[in-house]
Amino acid sequence: MKCSRHLNKEVVAMCAKCNAGVCEDCATATQSLRDEYGTLCVSCYQTALGEAINYYKEDNSSKLKNIIISACLYVFGIFFALVNGTGTDYISIIVGIFFCGFYNAIAGWKKGEEVHEEHERKYGVSYNVDSEGNIERNNGFFKKLFIAAIYTVLGLVVTPFTIIKNAIIISKNKKAIESIELEMEAVSKI
Ligand SMILES: [Zn+2]
Ligand SMILES: [Zn+2]
Repeated sequence: MKCSRHLNKEVVAMCAKCNAGVCEDCATATQSLRDEYGTLCVSCYQTALGEAINYYKEDNSSKLKNIIISACLYVFGIFFALVNGTGTDYISIIVGIFFCGFYNAIAGWKKGEEVHEEHERKYGVSYNVDSEGNIERNNGFFKKLFIAAIYTVLGLVVTPFTIIKNAIIISKNKKAIESIELEMEAVSKI
């Protein structure tokens, strides 16, 4: 049997994705993804590289969005607390901290949901009785609020580091995209 790409070469394996015949040259050219997918033909290899590029691009655009929004909120929050609140107006300071740590507050709320679910798994669902005598499932609202509040304050410190961390990941992703594009070009020539 001959290779699906090199009609004069003998097949050494079948493509793990599309079952096409793969020769020695094709198997060698596509080996960087062998651990992940098994042996691939050149065209499935190119598809997989394209998916990897898309993954990095999507990751970068969501991280860039995160940087822009959290940086704007942070600067606005500092401005609100220090300039608008002139450093002594506590409501402005609290509002300012809320803006600075807003992104972290979302993470805190999600953390609170996890903690509450874990609690329900361990100890079962609990119920509250409201002022009118209705029985309601305890949804852990105050627990979530408390954890979100802690995360918000932590966000004052954490947010700048998160911005730096995301910027570093974006630049690494860009390098990864460049090297995958080079690989794409190289494999297209075999
Ligand atoms: Zn294939
Ligand atoms: Zn081949």
